[in-house]
Amino acid sequence: MAIHVLSPEIASKIAAGEVTERPASVVKELVENSIDADASRISVDVRGGGIEYIRVTDDGTGIPADEATVAFERFATSKLDVADDLESVVTFGFRGEALPSIAAVSRVTMVTRTRGEDGGTQVDIEERTLVNRQQVGAAPGTSVTVRGLFRNLPARRKFLRSAASEATRVQSVVGRFALARPDVSIGLSIDGTSSFTTSGSGELREAIAAVYSPQVAEGMLDIETPVEDEAAPNAIGLIGRPSLARSNRNHLTLYVNGRWVQNRSLTYALQEAYRGFLMERRYPIAVVNIRIPHSEVDVNVHPSKTEVRLQQEGRVFAALQRAVRQTLTANLPVQELSAPATRTATPNNPLDVRSYWPVAPPTPGEQSVPDNRADVTSGASFPGEQSQLAPQQPLIPHRALPALRVLGQIKTTYIAAEGPDGMYLIDQHAAHERVLFEKIKTEARGGNPSTQGLIEPATVDLTPEQIEIIESQISEIKSLGFEVEAFGGRTFVVRGVPSVLRQEDPTESLRDVLDLMAEGGGYESWEERAAYSLACHGAIRAGKVLSFQETAELVRQLEQCSQPHTCPHGRPTMIHLTAARLEEEFGRRG
Ligand code: ADP
Ligand code: MG
Repeated sequence: MAIHVLSPEIASKIAAGEVTERPASVVKELVENSIDADASRISVDVRGGGIEYIRVTDDGTGIPADEATVAFERFATSKLDVADDLESVVTFGFRGEALPSIAAVSRVTMVTRTRGEDGGTQVDIEERTLVNRQQVGAAPGTSVTVRGLFRNLPARRKFLRSAASEATRVQSVVGRFALARPDVSIGLSIDGTSSFTTSGSGELREAIAAVYSPQVAEGMLDIETPVEDEAAPNAIGLIGRPSLARSNRNHLTLYVNGRWVQNRSLTYALQEAYRGFLMERRYPIAVVNIRIPHSEVDVNVHPSKTEVRLQQEGRVFAALQRAVRQTLTANLPVQELSAPATRTATPNNPLDVRSYWPVAPPTPGEQSVPDNRADVTSGASFPGEQSQLAPQQPLIPHRALPALRVLGQIKTTYIAAEGPDGMYLIDQHAAHERVLFEKIKTEARGGNPSTQGLIEPATVDLTPEQIEIIESQISEIKSLGFEVEAFGGRTFVVRGVPSVLRQEDPTESLRDVLDLMAEGGGYESWEERAAYSLACHGAIRAGKVLSFQETAELVRQLEQCSQPHTCPHGRPTMIHLTAARLEEEFGRRG
């Protein structure tokens, strides 16, 4: 066939297919329009799974009578003026494609009225043709009714599931909006029966009670990381106690700037944060909104707009994971962690390493956390702070690393190792950061930092701000392993540094730590950040050649860590390729 431009009719059907895949996607577009129109009340009615009938009614701005039909023209939108706006889209809509697309595959009736008008306007459109337009009595707002979805597209209709299954999808879509916008009262009714209605009070917990259940709402924990810096990514919302865990990820709802997103890496960050709190293949309930400056999000990736591109995914990942992890460790009484349950052996998590592992079985006890190694993630573990955990109580269970056999270094950056269930690739810098971080915290807590005395003491001139910190926090600085004395004026003498920093410039390290402390607390305690900073400074870099002994020693130390799977910033320290995965990849089994 010769190349030709598609007829407008076919082109619009193709475009329509992208926006309107199934009833749930139509509902999504209509509810987004209502929210964009500042509605405070939205009700959704579906019948026959939405294939027969969908109606979305709102009390928003309405559309002026003379624009009611324009709204159905392709690329007609009131939301985007100049291409520049694409950089910082804050409304859901912006393409002007939804209404025309829906109208291309169904019969649509819209009734709308602005607050300034006396009466409403009704338009009826059948497969893109205006068939009726009249004035009607109506309350301010808009109501869009969609009937006979895909009646003219039997091929697409064939792909729909049963009415019940389509209704379930509609339910999760509407639920996600209700959880994203507790300030809007959102109701759903399916085949005439009310499924839920949120109050619109603005309380997320109330919305969760309506959409899930009051019991679930009660078991949710507020994410407890005060926002330190508005310009940095931060996570807010509620996360479920481990006891509320589900067997799939359907209750794990993530938003970026209020827009629901599907993002594997963020989902993974959230799940990782629950590591040690949940059994294998159990997933948390969570409703989390990640706030990022609009300019750092690209929503213009796909018409359905559930994918977003984040410019600083690593930072977002870390912020999310840290927020969730801190909330869990700060809130959960030890007994709720049900240590034995999380340590149940599964094929992926063999507890009895010996039966799987022919080389160097760990001695009994090595698999459990020594008592002196208290939780390192709570941030409440420095001298003078109350520890959340009473001594001698069982510690936060974690998924310990099995004993690993080191194979060698790859690209002078990763360490390849074999474990009882497959292969591990370990990031040497991240792993060392984790090791140092735990060591620094343990030592600081014990008031017994390991210090490296300098053969030649170094002098350093400090700023007034740095001096103030040194004078007010000298004991904390010493607890990290610094030995510093005033020398007169702005000059100080450094006689010793934390031993993890023995390779670093002593005066630079001191300045860095003082600057960190000067930034104040907030997000996490400065002690925690000082430990991050020291660990990061002191950790071996990527690109450093390590001897076999050094790699083996590093891995051995990582095995001893209480949170070996992530670096202190929340990034993974390792990738685990299970034996099953390897077999699958090599086509050794079905
Ligand atoms: P978009 O949302 O991308 O602008 P749509 O096709 O979904 O495109 O809607 C086209 C226009 O119709 C919107 O820009 C808006 O001006 C108007 N509109 C649609 N639905 C509503 C509504 N529920 N309330 C008020 N205006 C609406
Ligand atoms: Mg829209």
